Amino acid sequence: MNIDVLNTPIEFLKGVGPKRAELLKSEMSIYSFRDLLNHFPFRYVDRSKTILIKDILEPHGSVQISVQISNVQELGQPRKKRLLVSAFDATGSVQLVWFKGIKWIKPTIKLGQQYVVYGKPASYAGSWNFNHPEIELEEKSKNKLGSLQPVYHSTEKLSAFGLQSRGIENLMRNLLPQVIKFIPKTLPSNIEKKNNFPNVFQAYENIHFPIDRHLLQKSILRLKYEELFFLQLSMTSQKLSTRNKLKGYVFKYVGNNFNDFFKKHLPFELTNAQKKVVKEIRKDLGSGVHMNRLLQGDVGSGKTLVAVLTILLSIDNGFQSCLMAPTEILATQHYKSIVNFLDPLGIKVSLLTGSVKKSDRKIIHQSLEDGTLNVLVGTHALLEDKVKFKNLGLSVIDEQHRFGVAQRAKLWKKNVQPPHVLVMTATPIPRTLAMTFYGDLDVSVIDELPPGRKPINTIHRFDSSRLKVFQFIEDEIKKGHQVYIVFPLIEESEKLDYKDLMDGYESIVRRFPLPDYQVSIVHGKMKPEAKEYEMSQFVNGKTQIMVATTVIEVGVDVPNASLMIIESAEKFGLSQLHQLRGRVGRGAEKSYCILMSGYKLSKEAKIRLETMVRTSDGFEISEQDLKIRGPGDVMGTQQSGVLDFKLADLARDGQIVQLSKNDVDQILKEDVNLSAPENQIVKKELIRIMKLKPNWSNIS
Ligand code: ADP
Ligand code: MG
Repeated sequence: MNIDVLNTPIEFLKGVGPKRAELLKSEMSIYSFRDLLNHFPFRYVDRSKTILIKDILEPHGSVQISVQISNVQELGQPRKKRLLVSAFDATGSVQLVWFKGIKWIKPTIKLGQQYVVYGKPASYAGSWNFNHPEIELEEKSKNKLGSLQPVYHSTEKLSAFGLQSRGIENLMRNLLPQVIKFIPKTLPSNIEKKNNFPNVFQAYENIHFPIDRHLLQKSILRLKYEELFFLQLSMTSQKLSTRNKLKGYVFKYVGNNFNDFFKKHLPFELTNAQKKVVKEIRKDLGSGVHMNRLLQGDVGSGKTLVAVLTILLSIDNGFQSCLMAPTEILATQHYKSIVNFLDPLGIKVSLLTGSVKKSDRKIIHQSLEDGTLNVLVGTHALLEDKVKFKNLGLSVIDEQHRFGVAQRAKLWKKNVQPPHVLVMTATPIPRTLAMTFYGDLDVSVIDELPPGRKPINTIHRFDSSRLKVFQFIEDEIKKGHQVYIVFPLIEESEKLDYKDLMDGYESIVRRFPLPDYQVSIVHGKMKPEAKEYEMSQFVNGKTQIMVATTVIEVGVDVPNASLMIIESAEKFGLSQLHQLRGRVGRGAEKSYCILMSGYKLSKEAKIRLETMVRTSDGFEISEQDLKIRGPGDVMGTQQSGVLDFKLADLARDGQIVQLSKNDVDQILKEDVNLSAPENQIVKKELIRIMKLKPNWSNIS
């Protein structure tokens, strides 16, 4: 019964009718009573003050006056009609003008009655004009609760049919009394009580027609909370139910390999953050449940070592492991550092990428299947069906955001029972986002860099200082250091960007000529072998300058590089800038990052550059990025709408995220299947929402 009333098609609401219904659907996706009810105001105007016409001063901002009508005139040709209304109070007169929706407005305006008019006055031919003001019988407006008037989003087409904000408000005033008692309870009373929320009826009433600011705030808080609560409830309950269903291999032993490595071969003491994370991983692996863990750690925080320790646990328990990276260069670097770590223990590691020869591939396939190969490192090549393991127990995925869900899922199928999964990312994700978005992954964070790192000095320079910057490059090279110079490459402006890159390269080669200097160049149009060659020349110290597009963004490790120059830095996103900067400061040398830009900077570009200069803290940078771009863009989900909230704002509502997260955890801890009587309200609402949001179940 409840549901039926809210699901009533919008055309059945008094004041709507077929044409308006059609527009509400096409312009606003409002199909039902429920949809309209959830079309919330985006701001409110204080209508408590009425002024006299003689006191209208500033042609800025909106004012409210109380007037009678002296004249109503329709002027102009049929298609260019204008409605001119003269209105007055005891102190003066004004003109009210409409160009659109005349058919709707005109019948409501009658001589001799008292009206409240609200709008923006503009000075015109010696008097004040109000274009498209809001107008209402004073008597009617007095009957309304409160003095905060809702303002609703509308569109030009809707306005032409009398559904500007005021028209929508009138529909809402028809709707609310009809449906209010049919709105289902969505939250249990104890949660309402604990958080001091208004009940659901009060919340809907007050968000549309607030009695006062206090109740308005509480109502918004409650409705935001609800949005976040149900997203998190759905994610977390999915996580718990898959976890209960999915058995994981039990890594019972901490054996010889792990202990040997720890005692004899560990090149440095683990940071506390690394220790904490290894502990979290060990707990998962020993528990018999399947591990699906995201390891977040800023560039250079030492994630590889954590992966190596996890691999050792896998080997100690008789399982094979694999590590997948998004590019050949990265996979190769991982391979080298893992071999370095594991060779002394006699552990067999191989590298599989697209460029491995067929004969070598065969050997790898063979040794994987007979179990003599312990660890396989590689690119997407690992995903091929031919790659079969004897006993895969652990899959590590580096830079997980570079892989699709389907690709990662393939790794899950490489054994009868899915291997444990550790995904790593150097893109810090704000806590609020991680909590909502990765509800179905466990998250570990390395929030500390190894000791002794020198902070990177970040400087913003305009293009006009190029000569000085070149001098600085020369100084660094004279000290025996290496330099990156990065150019943007953006799809929409690809042609121009390539030209900039090549022009830049030429002027660099002119300034830093052979034989004293060697300059490498890497960009996306080169053949993979050529890229690989240039890259290795730089990695091996054969060239001093690497001119590149963002292909070097992820992962490459050249400790001797001490200077990163980013050309047209204003074109890069914050997280990209941060990733690029992370390429230096990896060795013992003092490192620098110079952001080059033109003088003309957008407001956002300015904020980005200032943020980079101010801080190196990846989490702070990601918070800022979230504020600038919004959650959909940060997580790459803008298409799916997963993070589209009506009210909640992940960049600003961190506290509400935390609040709802705690409540969700508490509820699921006590009643994972939501079968207790007091949780039926929540369960019902969750089921309803899940039907509307099928894509909630396949993200992350
Ligand atoms: P990322 O998290 O970016 O993948 P890496 O794993 O590549 O970082 O580590 C960056 C550098 O720090 C490597 O050279 C690594 O050997 C070194 N490193 C890792 N852990 C420690 C530690 N606890 N103490 C000192 N150096 C460390
Ligand atoms: Mg790494």
